[in-house]
Amino acid sequence: MTDIRDDVAAGFEDLFGRPPTGIWSAPGRVNLIGEHTDYNEGFVLPFAINRRTVVALGLRDDATIRVASAFADQLSSIELTDLAPDRLDDWSAYPLGVAWALGQHGADLAAVPGVDIYIESTVPVGAGLSSSAAIESAVAIALDEVWQLGLDRPTLAKVGQLAENKVVGAPTGIMDQSAALLGRDDHAVFLDCRSLESQLVPLGFAEAGLELLIIDTGVSHSHATGGYAERRASCEKGAALMGVASLRELSVDDLPRARTTLDDETFRRVRHVVTENQRVLDTVAVLRSVGPLAIGDLLDASHASMRDDFEISVPELDLAVETAQGNGAIGARMTGGGFGGAAIALVPSAGVSRIQVAIDGAFAEHGFEQPTMFTVTASSGAARNR
Ligand code: ADP
Ligand code: MG
Repeated sequence: MTDIRDDVAAGFEDLFGRPPTGIWSAPGRVNLIGEHTDYNEGFVLPFAINRRTVVALGLRDDATIRVASAFADQLSSIELTDLAPDRLDDWSAYPLGVAWALGQHGADLAAVPGVDIYIESTVPVGAGLSSSAAIESAVAIALDEVWQLGLDRPTLAKVGQLAENKVVGAPTGIMDQSAALLGRDDHAVFLDCRSLESQLVPLGFAEAGLELLIIDTGVSHSHATGGYAERRASCEKGAALMGVASLRELSVDDLPRARTTLDDETFRRVRHVVTENQRVLDTVAVLRSVGPLAIGDLLDASHASMRDDFEISVPELDLAVETAQGNGAIGARMTGGGFGGAAIALVPSAGVSRIQVAIDGAFAEHGFEQPTMFTVTASSGAARNR
């Protein structure tokens, strides 16, 4: 097997005619539980996965930043001092947006050296595994190092989020970048999105004989438009009508009042967020006290809440989840922002292929395109590799 770090170094050299200064990478992530809770200042429990976006970077002796990716056959080039949110509109908004966002966090873009960047990735794009945070986080740690900024990881997560919010234009929360930057082997990142404090929680999947299966439905989603922003607006409306700064302030005990205060749709949006926060807390407690074999019901309940209350599932995700549940999974749920993307199933190792066959069969029967399935392990966060 060729090493992606060799590929990216060779790709850099082909394109820019010199070897890179260094190679950095950041992982995609899967969210074990806690969906649409991040921007409501709630709890999430993602983990970094063994699929990574790798960045080769070389310093320049002028003030130009150039970015290229194996993903898109085009080189984007701009003067660092010309970086501005409204000047970046294609995929390069992610890496160049990070450079701009570093400028908002103290980097002097008129003084730092220019760079060339070449990117390759094994994170599937648009599958809900946050290839976006992987590219942002890999670029962020690379630039932080070569520009000698010394920003800590929580700040770099904010940098990635700022790029995604202001430059890409997707109103996403802080979860994805936090997982990509703070993840560790065999651990999930339990993140409080209000305080931004995080704790590593041991997962112990392998020890319990479990694997985490990703079922990428191939149904594409876009967070810059449509449903995601609408759900976010509903949450803001619900919080305002309930008289709280964010839905984080509400607990399940507040739901009866929410039911009488809110219209039915807003109530169901709020109920998802409030119960999902509780499920994250419960999942952390169960992982710590009993272990992963006991979290299945929480995963299943999370899916039902997203399907029925938050209404962000699609038929392909529901079918993947139901088929996994009916064929021996410990638990299953859609993961990511919804409206497409991937589902996860926590599965006994010996039963992985049986579940894959069952899902393939069910998708064929429904006339859905064949999903892509693979297992992931919890891996380390962004790091310099060479
Ligand atoms: P997800 O984060 O779930 O994969 P998003 O829509 O948030 O989906 O982000 C996907 C977008 O991120 C791509 O369409 C592309 O613009 C950008 N992107 C991700 N990875 C890469 C990469 N390796 N090279 C270039 N662009 C990338
Ligand atoms: Mg994304």
